[in-house]
Amino acid sequence: MESSAGNSIRLNWQAEFADPERESLYRRISLAYEACQLRFALYIAAGMYLAFILADYGVLGDGAAFQALLLMRLTVVTACLVLLTAVWRNPAMAQRPLAITAVCLLGITCLLLTIPLRPEPEGMHIAALIVASMALYLFIPNRPVWMLAANAYLLLGFLVITLAWAPISGVLMASSLALLAFVNLLGWLTNTRLNRLKREQFALLLEERSTNRRLKREIEERVALESQLRDLACTDELTGVANRRHFFELAEHELRHARRDGTPLALCMVDVDHFKSLNDHHGHAAGDMVLRTIAGCCQAVLRESDVLGRYGGEEFVIALPLADLNTAAAIGERLRRRIGDLCLPILEGGPALTVSIGISRVEAGEATLEPALLRADQALYAGKARGRNCVVVAARPTGITPRVPNHGPLGVHEPPPPHAPLGA
Ligand code: GH3
Ligand code: MG
Ligand code: MG
Repeated sequence: MESSAGNSIRLNWQAEFADPERESLYRRISLAYEACQLRFALYIAAGMYLAFILADYGVLGDGAAFQALLLMRLTVVTACLVLLTAVWRNPAMAQRPLAITAVCLLGITCLLLTIPLRPEPEGMHIAALIVASMALYLFIPNRPVWMLAANAYLLLGFLVITLAWAPISGVLMASSLALLAFVNLLGWLTNTRLNRLKREQFALLLEERSTNRRLKREIEERVALESQLRDLACTDELTGVANRRHFFELAEHELRHARRDGTPLALCMVDVDHFKSLNDHHGHAAGDMVLRTIAGCCQAVLRESDVLGRYGGEEFVIALPLADLNTAAAIGERLRRRIGDLCLPILEGGPALTVSIGISRVEAGEATLEPALLRADQALYAGKARGRNCVVVAARPTGITPRVPNHGPLGVHEPPPPHAPLGA
């Protein structure tokens, strides 16, 4: 049987999953619900059998027939209570068809015995059997094949009892059998339809869960990929520091802070001396390694709040929040010395590795980094002109006055004379 919910739902003739693994998963998940349903059915059945003791007494009085029926009814009630206790203790009992079917057969036997023992219109007995047959299909949770078996026992029992002990007219027998057959057909169709619906629902739920899991995984992968792409877009591939574009993003952020809080912001331009000849002597790979080493030196010298970026080629740029020119010059000098002290085996035999550094600060009233960067660049080239391996602080541009004379964050320190090398 192929279900409408999709190719993945293949059901067998009992309207259970054809795939045993899937069926057992379904049964595991529906166990608690079935246990609850079975307990409910057992309470009702026990109550019904008990209540009919009164009806028996009303019809039969206290005779042997009543006592036989009483014994039978009490046996059924006891069986119901035993199974009930077992299901309370172990809900897995709700899916043991043998135990459930045994109680059902006992109940059917009791019902069949009322036919010869309680002389009343046959219609009552047939109505009771019809109700029992429907209950077996729709009320008591059991596997369909066991429902069929219990109903076959009911039909057969009815035939045997009526033929052997309580004969009824041929017409009544025929119509009773037709009615019971119809009830069986209805019960079976309704039960398989219910089974199919429940399994379709279950399959949809599984599909939904797996789609959700897949979506969650895809979202996680996408987020990871996005963050990877963001990193790639912001990072210089060779040195791992911020690329030029990202440096500007970060440094402009610092500039906005500095302008808002009235704090200083200094800039350093670092350029490797004679890098072209280093490349020519030792090869491009050695040059790359030197650039990585210099980036590492910068990171080691700088604070976490400082912003380092590769400006291009063999030039690095640094934004130093809260640093005035003196502090920036001291940091630049520390960096120059650290790089000058490097002993790279790869450069053995060649001239020492040195850098020239130009330093400037953002002046009050400057809304962008460009003017200060230009001054740092000019200071750097002044350093190159003076023989390299030095730190040069840019002169304050003419026409700009400190924001707060001698106290203001940008004007506290007078800059050294224009293009004064600090560490040549
Ligand atoms: P100066 O002291 O005046 O700065 O001289 P320089 O040789 O350092 O400057 P120049 O601008 O003449 O040369 C820079 C060299 O840097 C040229 C270029 O081949 C090299 N370069 C630029 N980017 C890279 C890189 O990513 N890796 C390597 N190995 N070399 C690079
Ligand atoms: Mg250069
Ligand atoms: Mg250079």
